[in-house]
Order: sequence, then C-alpha cells, then structure tokens
Amino acid sequence: MEKYYQAIADFHKKYKMKGTNNEDMTFRLNLLIEELGELAQAVTKGKLRKEVIEENIDLLNLVIGNFVSLGAGLDEIDKAFWEKHEKIMNRKKKKLKSGKYRVSEFRK
Ligand SMILES: [Mg+2]
Repeated sequence: MEKYYQAIADFHKKYKMKGTNNEDMTFRLNLLIEELGELAQAVTKGKLRKEVIEENIDLLNLVIGNFVSLGAGLDEIDKAFWEKHEKIMNRKKKKLKSGKYRVSEFRK
C-alpha cells in the first residue's frame, strides 16, 4: 500500500493537483463513475482478464487518489481499513431469494 500511495501522491504532485478541481471529491466521484463504467463494460463484454485487471487498477488509483486528496495519510488509512475489516469479518453470509450468496449487514 505504501508504494502505491507514494506513487499516486507523486502523480498528484507532478500534475500540481493540490487545491484544484482534481482534488475536489465531486469531480473525483465523476471519475470513479466513469472508470466503474469502463470496468462494467470490460466484464459484461467478456474482455480479456488483462483488461478487467487494468480497469480495476484505474479504480484503485482513483481510490488512493481520494486519500491523497483528502489528506489522509497511511496511518489513518491503515486504522480505517482494519476497523472496517473487523466489521466485515463479523457479518453474516446469507442465501438470497435469487439463489446467490451475499455477505452483508442484514437488517430486519
Ligand atoms: Mg479505465
């Protein structure tokens, strides 16, 4: 994670993104939606595994860029990650009416 974070922080620095629209979360949300659409196309159109991985990397880069934009450092991300991990590890797995399984926070 540290190497990826530094690489994306370098990218933001190289293109002087600090304080610009590039670090605005609404703008970034649009980029995420665009990349999610590209991933959806790669998956639904049966593109090569390599292309599906590349679209996931685009999303990963943007998510890491969100942390950089928010000024969230590695310690804060690490803490938030493990807090969330503990939650998801305690979730239930259920079989849905569709026959598919899902791990979620099911509410009654
Ligand atoms: Mg893409």
